[in-house]
Amino acid sequence: MSNCAIVGINWGDEGKGRMVDLLTDHYDIVARYQGGGNAGHTVINEYGKFALHLLPSGIFRGNVVNILGGGVALDAENLWKEIEGVRAQGVKVTPDNLKISARASLLLPWHRDLDELEERRLADKKYGSTKQGIAPFYADKYAKKTVLAGELVYPAKLREHLGDLLAWKNLTLTRVYGAEPCTMEKLEKWLAEYGEKIKPFVTDTTAYLESAAAAGKSILFEAQLGALRDLDCGIYPYTTSSNTVAAYAPIGAGIPGAKIDEVIGVVKAYSTCVGEGPFTCEWFGEEAERLREAGGEYGAKTGRPRRVGPVDLVATRYGVKMQAATAVALTKLDVLSYMDEIPVCEKYLVDGAQTADFPLPMLLDDAKPVWTSLPGWKCDISGVRTWEDLPKAAQDYVLFIERSIGCPIRYVSVGPERDSIIIR
Ligand code: GDP
Repeated sequence: MSNCAIVGINWGDEGKGRMVDLLTDHYDIVARYQGGGNAGHTVINEYGKFALHLLPSGIFRGNVVNILGGGVALDAENLWKEIEGVRAQGVKVTPDNLKISARASLLLPWHRDLDELEERRLADKKYGSTKQGIAPFYADKYAKKTVLAGELVYPAKLREHLGDLLAWKNLTLTRVYGAEPCTMEKLEKWLAEYGEKIKPFVTDTTAYLESAAAAGKSILFEAQLGALRDLDCGIYPYTTSSNTVAAYAPIGAGIPGAKIDEVIGVVKAYSTCVGEGPFTCEWFGEEAERLREAGGEYGAKTGRPRRVGPVDLVATRYGVKMQAATAVALTKLDVLSYMDEIPVCEKYLVDGAQTADFPLPMLLDDAKPVWTSLPGWKCDISGVRTWEDLPKAAQDYVLFIERSIGCPIRYVSVGPERDSIIIR
């Protein structure tokens, strides 16, 4: 069976959750391969409306096995709260349909504290972190100073390992930041409260994935955030601390040899961005407020108003390339229905010259958008379910984007519900 990755092309929040929720029906396994509880996927289905942060979006499908791979920042506290939350709404979560990689590193209580302390130290130079501990977590993971989820099963070894890390981490907490040290009691409490709860889900997911693949099962790889937030390909340092691109999916999921047959890149019909950093097509003032309201653009995790602007085809073209997208899902087209004219950005002005190429991060601050304007359609399209029924101006808008980014737009979504989708 074929494997697929559903990834973000831009800055995140493109609507990946709704696409995974739609497509999970065709796959046996949904695997999250990177990131942690720092972003949210919004999914609306027969159980209700959910903002998922760590749980794979396949959790709502009875026949799907969900994997949290070794590349994920495993925040046991947030994960447990999320499991309890979805269970309260009637969703089944058991070790049969949720499997956590024994190789996933645990996000420890001090990671969140350090995120907060560092953002405070940076003051007006802050990165706009969601303060979920993600950057300190990945820094420690790559410094080989974290605990693996599999260690939860071996309490004596775990305590010794945690004791060593505690002594090391307290040097940073107290001497660098002048903060209170963490204590073994705090860690014990955290282990009892959350570590024990997630332990039954921890297993060798690589062995599971290998045998599932050998049995012909298909995998849907689910990304968090988008290409422009990828640590290596994105707008560094305003990136996340992991690899969001599809090429990393087999590694982060724990089955490095898996072939990805299809990469569906999710693009929003306009641009949004959370946090700091260059955002070339940003709108301000009244027109920004109107678009933000129309799209309900407030962070799923933090409730922060998102930065908004027209679609950025320079960034999107680059994102499509970095993701090696084979098809695009264009979401939230319905949100643009109020506009008379719709601006799109096909080129940037950098150093006095126009360019269609996405600049290196150090040049982005100086880039200015070059606008083209397309006619709006000015009617409600949220009930449209076929391409032919879309107004001509809406079709033209989609086709313009398709030509500009050089990738077929196979899905056009016109509302948040599972069936509010046009498949071309
Ligand atoms: P993700 O992290 O990429 O899954 O994106 P988010 O969940 O942060 O953002 C998507 C938001 O848009 C959610 O509130 C969705 O319910 C909503 N949404 C997704 N697709 C559509 C659409 O086509 N139209 C409208 N109006 N809302 C949508």
